[in-house]
Amino acid sequence: MILIGNGNVITRDNNNTYLENGAICIENQFIYDIGSLKELQIRYPEAEFIDAHGGLIMPGYINTHNHIYSALARGLSIPGNNPSNFLEILQGTWWKLDLELTMKQIALSAKITFLDCIRNGVTTVFDHHASYGNIKGSLFKVAEIAKEMGVRTCLSYEISDRDGLDKMKQSVSENIEFLEYANHDQTDMIKAMIGMHASFTLSDETLEYCVNLNKENGGYHIHVAEGISDAIHCKDTYQMSIVERLYKKGILGKKTIAAHCIHIDDSDRNRLLETGTMVVHNPESNMGNAVGCSDVLALYKKGILIGLGTDGYTNDMLESMKVANLLQKHNSENPSAAWTEIPTMLFMNNKKIAERFYNNPLGIIEKGAYADIIISDYQPFTPMNSTNMNSHILFGMNGRNTITTIINGKVRMKDRKFTVIEDTEILLECREEANHLWKALGGE
Ligand SMILES: [Zn+2]
Repeated sequence: MILIGNGNVITRDNNNTYLENGAICIENQFIYDIGSLKELQIRYPEAEFIDAHGGLIMPGYINTHNHIYSALARGLSIPGNNPSNFLEILQGTWWKLDLELTMKQIALSAKITFLDCIRNGVTTVFDHHASYGNIKGSLFKVAEIAKEMGVRTCLSYEISDRDGLDKMKQSVSENIEFLEYANHDQTDMIKAMIGMHASFTLSDETLEYCVNLNKENGGYHIHVAEGISDAIHCKDTYQMSIVERLYKKGILGKKTIAAHCIHIDDSDRNRLLETGTMVVHNPESNMGNAVGCSDVLALYKKGILIGLGTDGYTNDMLESMKVANLLQKHNSENPSAAWTEIPTMLFMNNKKIAERFYNNPLGIIEKGAYADIIISDYQPFTPMNSTNMNSHILFGMNGRNTITTIINGKVRMKDRKFTVIEDTEILLECREEANHLWKALGGE
């Protein structure tokens, strides 16, 4: 048993309980008890004590859209690659990089990303993988590393026609084989979805091929109307919106994530709502790629389950929350906008998205939920309580305030020291492999 105490507990339960000088007891992978430190110390005198040092004890963050495969691109520059639009960004960087990645580089990208997740208090990651030079076994490799590092994941491979029919078919097989594996995994640490790139790189035949092979009814994870060119391509080619096209092909539903949803209209939003499709907003990526601003407030108001992701930009969910908050205020020219919606997307909706996949509650501190818990060293210098805690987090914290990360009841970082792996060795290996990858891309 583990007893975590000497801090204030943010539970994220239905009553939004904030427990001053609270404590949590963990048994195996679950939260076993919650109360005051005094009570729990008397009840569980034998438990191993983890000191929160007066900070915050809270559920780990959940990232609902990430691209682990992009990790080794940090600092990369490819001469002559000066994109003027989103398609050129994909063609000039990402579609080149994912063709060159070796299995070793895939493994290292996963290792360094999961370490960064643990460091930033992210305990569950929904990933969208691509490695067109090494498709077979790539999801299994990422899953192997996830198990080694102890991070909860939901993985998918980005199916696309962009590298030809054979590779499209291989990428479908990788998804289907991995889905079957994940569905039979008893640990509830690994889940799977059928990954798809985007409407403009998926023909009708490919969509039908995927749906026919998806016998286990896995949900889909797809980029929707991220660039305006995707929306125009769909209208020109199929005479309908992307959302409508995906609906007609049977892609939408309660287990499907439509990432971005920038260039959509109200009838699309109605379709997303009616099918129970989830949406994930990635503000930093959208701004960086200059693709426009998703009207997340309209999606939220409609009642669509909309969460927050990072799209590979960062593993710090609070960075994504800060940018989302500013972007919506800026875009709507309304300083009162988004105070409630953005924290709800991160703290409540990402949890609801995750709960559509995992067998027990997570992202919440309550008895019987998975013990995915972090400790933050944040010390408020103004009063903090259940009504203003999200403002404290928004303005006062970032991911690096995390000092201790526990996932599935196992301590993965304690007082900023990793228990899973020595990070210095991994850093050296990553730098070396990044060099090889950059050379293969003609970069520097
Ligand atoms: Zn993405």
